[in-house]
Amino acid sequence: MLTAEQVKAYAKDCGADLVGIGSVDRFEGISPEWDPRYIMPEAKVIIGLAFRIHRGHLRGIEEGTYYAAYPSIGYANINDVHGPQVLRRLGNLLEDDGYEAVMFPNSGIRYGMGNGRPVAEGRPAPNVFLNFRVCGFICGMGEIGWSGLFLTPEFGPRQRLAFLVTDAPLESDPLFEGGLCDHCMRCVATCPGHAISRDEKATITVAGRTLEKGKLDVLRCATVFQAGSPETSPFMNAEVADTVRHIIEEGEDAPVKPLGPERFWGNPGSPDPKRWNSPAIHDYLYNHMGIIKGACKNFRHPAAICGARGCMRECMIHLEEQGKLGNRFHNPFRRRPAWKLTPADQLGSGE
Ligand code: SF4
Ligand code: SF4
Repeated sequence: MLTAEQVKAYAKDCGADLVGIGSVDRFEGISPEWDPRYIMPEAKVIIGLAFRIHRGHLRGIEEGTYYAAYPSIGYANINDVHGPQVLRRLGNLLEDDGYEAVMFPNSGIRYGMGNGRPVAEGRPAPNVFLNFRVCGFICGMGEIGWSGLFLTPEFGPRQRLAFLVTDAPLESDPLFEGGLCDHCMRCVATCPGHAISRDEKATITVAGRTLEKGKLDVLRCATVFQAGSPETSPFMNAEVADTVRHIIEEGEDAPVKPLGPERFWGNPGSPDPKRWNSPAIHDYLYNHMGIIKGACKNFRHPAAICGARGCMRECMIHLEEQGKLGNRFHNPFRRRPAWKLTPADQLGSGE
């Protein structure tokens, strides 16, 4: 029978950078729509895989000169190509040994959660999916930072995750005891969308632990994650900058400003067509910023112009400065003062 050590070594041979294993008992207390035991009631463990986001994918955004590596190799390739290939090969190993392998690539969430009807009493509506950052904790791979990003001792916030649930009775790793996030609030201070709360938190209890993170304004992040802010995006014209600035100021459920007919989107899925929501802002940015349309068409991922300036880059700098990360570099990441644009710089067409 396969051992946990064999499974972990094979996953790394296949291309995973980090591997952890957690007993599914640790899901006790989580909402049914995030509980993999509703997908495989006989499951014994969840296997977590982490794939590094190379620090060099963030270099061009840090310098403001090259934006293609992050959404293509740093996002789409990991989520849609590399991660699923490793999951497949690990699944082969388990199923050749007579155990089922249910795979959760990162992109699986695009199919939607809870968008069907329950098929029987006591079962949650499909699709049940996973809360990836909570699952990373359950697999003993790291912790959730105040930013909401998953932090590991090897890469800090620089990885993407994928999971496999199986009925193979593998030994679990211990839970991570913490110590990476020190609540320095640099992610809060430097997020260009002001999307992470300094005071309000969101909590969840699993495996007998209460995990917490800063409350995220989803609309602000959905906007600035894709487009950047007017001060941090070299691809915005004045009209887009005005819209993005408005959403940063107003936050969640920002009213649609009555400046012209195209601002009234009849937002799909929104209870109020006169308020912005994430799908509506995505449609707007797709239609008003050529680089976002280009990224979506070519990489099937948003352009991610923000380059996770607060939640990933600033946090990584902070953790590296403290010598907390295993993945070390000869040079510090920030070598020049962080740049900022002024309104006078937003003169381009945005196309
Ligand atoms: S920057 Fe990183 S370490 Fe500091 S509060 Fe944010 S998540 Fe925690
Ligand atoms: S992706 Fe950008 S906007 Fe979203 S939380 Fe991170 S730094 Fe803020």
